[in-house]
Amino acid sequence: MYPASLQELIEQFRRLPGVGEKTAERYALMIAEQPSEDAQRFADALIQVKQKLHHCPVCGNLTDEDTCSICRTESRDKGQIFVVQSAKDVSAMERTGEYNGVYHVLNGLISSSKGILPEDLNLEDLIQRARGAREVIIATSTTMDGETTAMYLDRLLKKECPEVLVTRIAHGLPSGGMLDYADEITLSHALQDRRKM
Ligand SMILES: [Zn+2]
Repeated sequence: MYPASLQELIEQFRRLPGVGEKTAERYALMIAEQPSEDAQRFADALIQVKQKLHHCPVCGNLTDEDTCSICRTESRDKGQIFVVQSAKDVSAMERTGEYNGVYHVLNGLISSSKGILPEDLNLEDLIQRARGAREVIIATSTTMDGETTAMYLDRLLKKECPEVLVTRIAHGLPSGGMLDYADEITLSHALQDRRKM
């Protein structure tokens, strides 16, 4: 048994996804043996992210500023809205360099198993934005929740803004937040081969 302070740090690391007992122990011991400045920088980074980071009020992406860097870029095509589950998906799509429209980050999916309802997602804003757009590209995952959300959005958009073209990216991307594991070519093709819903 370690001293209480070290044990507490081990427990905090264990809460992270994919970190088991042995890894948590190794991380905590590493921190304990680091110079104080390094540990301080690590602690500061944790606090900064909680103080500064928030969802962009326009698109739901993560940002430290009033709005996110994509929404702030004048040259982005506001007529095309790419709808994803999480900020990780935005980051993955941006890495392809193939997309110059804007995003709408749902920060979740409609899910009966998790009790997430359409009203829990940021859909009012999406409808408002879609009214001024040419195309909404739905890029939620091909999991059950991803497909349920895509179908719901398609119906909602056709009802609320019948002028906008609603498309779905071509093939199965892994479930939300996992889009970044798909390679850039796969993502580019998924975008190019999108179909009308
Ligand atoms: Zn934004």
